[in-house]
Amino acid sequence: MAASLRLCAAASGLRYWSRRQRPAAASLAAVCSRSMASKTPVGFIGLGNMGNPMAKNLMKHGYPLIIYDVFLDVCKEFQDAGEQVVSSPADVAEKADRIITMLPTSINAIEAYSGANGILKKVKKGSLLIDSSTIDPAVSKELAKEVEKMGAVFMDAPVSGGVGAARSGNLTFMVGEAEDEFAAAQELLGCMGSNVVYCGAVGTGQAAKICNMLLAISMIGTAEAMNLGIRLGLDPKLLVKILNMSSGRCWSSDTYNPVPGVMDGVPSANNYQGGFGATLMAKDLGLAQDSATSTKSPILLGSQAHQIYRMMCAKGYSKKDFSSVFQFLREEETF
Ligand code: NAD
Repeated sequence: MAASLRLCAAASGLRYWSRRQRPAAASLAAVCSRSMASKTPVGFIGLGNMGNPMAKNLMKHGYPLIIYDVFLDVCKEFQDAGEQVVSSPADVAEKADRIITMLPTSINAIEAYSGANGILKKVKKGSLLIDSSTIDPAVSKELAKEVEKMGAVFMDAPVSGGVGAARSGNLTFMVGEAEDEFAAAQELLGCMGSNVVYCGAVGTGQAAKICNMLLAISMIGTAEAMNLGIRLGLDPKLLVKILNMSSGRCWSSDTYNPVPGVMDGVPSANNYQGGFGATLMAKDLGLAQDSATSTKSPILLGSQAHQIYRMMCAKGYSKKDFSSVFQFLREEETF
């Protein structure tokens, strides 16, 4: 897959970097002085399920961090590890000229950038602001305009891969920005991800991420198949083994299986705690729905998935990982 993507990139001029192709020192040298000062502090805002392991990977690569999260408790372990915790996004911007934001929704991102104590209040000229949250592409474009007015650079770089990939530093970043800053972004994103893909102008990273609504559909399909098989009397571990040798195999079946007891180290093994919340999945599917409406694209299964995740949130699953759709289906006998 990675090899074929690299081939395709070469053929089409697509900018794509995988860990096996770290950018050469010479190409990094071409970017501005900000990114050449490589071990200067990096700001990190939003230390939740994803932000926490992503920030830790930057620490492992020797970057001192300037940390902020509205929920102070999540900052404590970084403070204990000697990182600097500040009291607003503006304070992060005062102390760091490269900042990564990893926030739940568009509203949170607007608050962190343009709010009363937002990044834009104290951002320094030439700063690089990378938003890895999954938000509305239109909001990314608006934020980019505001950031540009302050003489700084904004890029959207949402991720795919989940908490496991965030921990192991194997996320895929989908980057939208003015192409000349891509190398500067690679330096940091390469510490947290194994694939960094240039998608085009600001907002195109979010567009690519929105198309990964495919995950919601494949997770629901996996949950349905597993539930059906179990009710037909099959042993779930055997069924997973067979599905993963078969053409229905997918990431939801072989890496993030939703059935408790068939796989270790995934949210289904831990009462669906951690991972990617059902609320966030409903939010992503809402973004896909809006984009489908504005582009007149039929997303029949995407719309159905959106309804299912909204219903789950209304029925008490909002804080559980999105793979709890398996549990939801088990309880919805008459669905
Ligand atoms: P999360 O809810 O676990 O963490 C978000 C953090 O942001 C929380 O600690 C919260 O306190 C903080 N926060 C909220 N508003 C803030 C503000 N204004 N200023 C500072 N901090 C603020 O969410 P997550 O699972 O880490 O997801 C973050 C983003 O990554 C979301 O957009 C999500 O859709 C996307 N994403 C998540 C996963 C996953 O598996 N969890 C995978 C891919 C993409």
